[in-house]
Amino acid sequence: NSIKEAEFIISNTDHSKCPAPDLPEYAFIGRSNVGKSSLINMLSGRKSLAKISGKPGKTQLINHFLMDKSWYLVDLPGYGYAKVSKKVNAGWGNMINNYLTSRENLVCIFVLIDSRLPPQKIDVEFIDFLGRNQLPLSIIFTKADKQSRNKTQQNVAVFKKNMLNTWDEFPPHFISSATEEKGKEAILGFIEQLNEH
Ligand code: GDP
Repeated sequence: NSIKEAEFIISNTDHSKCPAPDLPEYAFIGRSNVGKSSLINMLSGRKSLAKISGKPGKTQLINHFLMDKSWYLVDLPGYGYAKVSKKVNAGWGNMINNYLTSRENLVCIFVLIDSRLPPQKIDVEFIDFLGRNQLPLSIIFTKADKQSRNKTQQNVAVFKKNMLNTWDEFPPHFISSATEEKGKEAILGFIEQLNEH
């Protein structure tokens, strides 16, 4: 499972200027520094398709990439960067909210969660927002190489237990490491499967 062709298409602040919704689309989102750019680069097999964030929280853009001319990968701006002003944060909220709730070709939203941490309020709130809006999501637990496999499993279990307090089921989930190229096949396979339906 690999992507042969990855092409940057456009960056937008306005969801209405995104490419025509004529291909299946998959969005990636998470807290600043969660490892989103690294994951996108791993998935696409390109070293710097997504910019590894030198200045987290600065780029507030919806970035469309076309994969193998058959689906869009969308890099959404990270949330929860402490130094971003309230005004910028509010703008982020509107832009992302509008995009997520109106993008008709959106097949799945991959929410990236740092596998090393206990459930973070901001992540739980974002996931609950997706739930309230009945938006399809999957969870990717990132940076798994930074701890033992056991510890990762423990943290995933805690996250799941926490989520099942308010959710009926735990969504599809993946464990990834950009440094060890882990999770790539499973995630691309999942996307491929959805694309076929
Ligand atoms: P973003 O802000 O979510 O796009 O995060 P980046 O991809 O820019 O990564 C933030 C930092 O975490 C960088 O220093 C990366 O090198 C590091 N990082 C990202 N993914 C991994 C991973 O899977 N393993 C390890 N060990 N470090 C990672």
